[in-house]
Amino acid sequence: MTEKLTLVQEQVRKFLAAELLPIVDQINEDGIFPEKVYRNFFKAGFGASFLPEEWGGDGDILGYLDIGAEIGRIDLGFALSVMASAVLFGKNVHLLGTDAQKKQYLPGIVDGSKIGCWALTDPTTGGSDAVGIQTFCEKKGGQYILNGAKTFITNAPVADYFIIISRMKGTEGKGIEGGCAFVVERGAAGMTLGKPLKKMGHRTSPTGEIFLENCAVPASALLGTEGRAFLDMKKSLDFERAAFSAIGIGAIDELLNIMIKYAAMRNVFGKPILEYQLIQEKIAQIGAEFDVMKAYTQVVRDKMVKGERMTKEAAIVKLLLSKLGLKAADEAIQILGGYGYMTEYRVERIYRDMRLYEIGGGTSEIQKLVIAKELAKEYMNRPGALI
Ligand SMILES: Cc1cc2nc3c(=O)[nH]c(=O)nc-3n(C[C@H](O)[C@H](O)[C@H](O)COP(=O)(O)OP(=O)(O)OC[C@H]3O[C@@H](n4cnc5c(N)ncnc54)[C@H](O)[C@@H]3O)c2cc1C
Repeated sequence: MTEKLTLVQEQVRKFLAAELLPIVDQINEDGIFPEKVYRNFFKAGFGASFLPEEWGGDGDILGYLDIGAEIGRIDLGFALSVMASAVLFGKNVHLLGTDAQKKQYLPGIVDGSKIGCWALTDPTTGGSDAVGIQTFCEKKGGQYILNGAKTFITNAPVADYFIIISRMKGTEGKGIEGGCAFVVERGAAGMTLGKPLKKMGHRTSPTGEIFLENCAVPASALLGTEGRAFLDMKKSLDFERAAFSAIGIGAIDELLNIMIKYAAMRNVFGKPILEYQLIQEKIAQIGAEFDVMKAYTQVVRDKMVKGERMTKEAAIVKLLLSKLGLKAADEAIQILGGYGYMTEYRVERIYRDMRLYEIGGGTSEIQKLVIAKELAKEYMNRPGALI
C-alpha cells in the first residue's frame, strides 16, 4: 500500500523537497531562519491558506492542517515560524480586526512579504498565568500608551507586525476582564527588540524579547474590543492548539518511518534488528498510540470545520501529542543506537525540537488544568453518581 496524498500535500512535499530539505541540516546547525524559503512558501499560497478567498487563502482548514503536517516532517522550527505568522497573527487579525486592520495587515501576511508574531508571555509573570501579565496600557488623549516587556516570542526578531497583549492599567486583579490587544508595527517609537534567544531546539525559528517603554499607539491599533482580549484569546487558543498539533502529527509519522526503515536495514547478530521482538515492541507501542491519536484528531478536525467549541478536545490533543512526540523521538534514538545520538542524524534534532511541545502554546500542566475543568463541567451536569 502506498501513502495517499491530497493534491496540496503533494505540492507542499515537492516544494519542501526542493527548497527546504537541501538546507535544513545546515540552517539548524547554524541557527538560521530560512527567510527566502519562508517568502517563497507564502508566495506559493501555502503559508496562510486557511484564510478565506477574499483574503488570499482557499478557506480549507483541513488542507492547512495537512500542510502543517508536511512541514512537520521536515523541520519543526520552520513550521513554528510559519504558523506564528499565519495563525497567531493572521488568524487573530482576521477574527478580531476591523475592515481597515484586515486590509492593512492580511495581504502582506498571506503573500509572505510581511511576518507577524503574537506576544503574550511576560518575563516577570510568565506564560501560564496569562491574566497576570504586567504589560500595561493606559488611554491618554486619542492614544494608548504601552509599558512592559515580552519574552520567548516566536518571530519577534524578524517580525514586521506584532500583536501585543496587555492589561488596562487599573484592572489588576480583575482576572479575565481588562485585557487589551494591539497591533504594533516594527519601528514604532517606544518598542525595542532584544537579541534573538539561543535555544535547545527549533533553531530555525527566531525567538526574542520585546520591550515597551511609553510606546504610544493610535486608538486604531486596538485589536478587538477594549477589555476583552483575554476572553477573545480563549477562543483563538483552541484553533491554535489544534493547528500546531498537526505539525506534530507529521513529525511522529516521519519518526515511525525512520524507525522502521532503519531497523529493517541495520544488521546486528546477523539479522535486521526489525526482527527482534524488543525492537518490534517499541515500534508497535508508538504505532498503536499514534493510530489512536490520529483517530482522536479527527474529532478535533470535525469540530474545527463546523466551528464548534473544542476547548477540551484541543487540550487533549495538545497534551497527548506532545508526550507521544517526545516518546517517539526518544525510541527512535534508541533504535538508531549511537547514530541516533549523533547530530548528523535527524532524530537527535527532532528529539530536541519535540521538547518544546510540552511548553509552548500552554504547558502540559496547563492543558491538564483545562481538561480537568472541562470534565468537571461535563460531569457535574450529569444526573447522580453511584458513589
Ligand atoms: C521556543 C518558544 C516559543 C514561544 N513562542 C511564544 C509566542 O510566540 N508567543 C508567546 O506569547 N509566548 C511564546 N512562548 C512562551 C510559552 O507560551 C511559555 O513558555 C509557556 O506558556 C510557559 O510559560 P513560562 O515559560 O513563563 O512558564 P511558567 O508559566 O513560569 O511555568 C513554569 C512551570 O510551572 C508550571 N505551572 C504553572 N502554573 C501551574 C499550575 N497552576 N499548576 C501546576 N503547574 C503550573 C508550568 O506548567 C511550568 O512547568 C514560547 C516559548 C518558547 C520556549
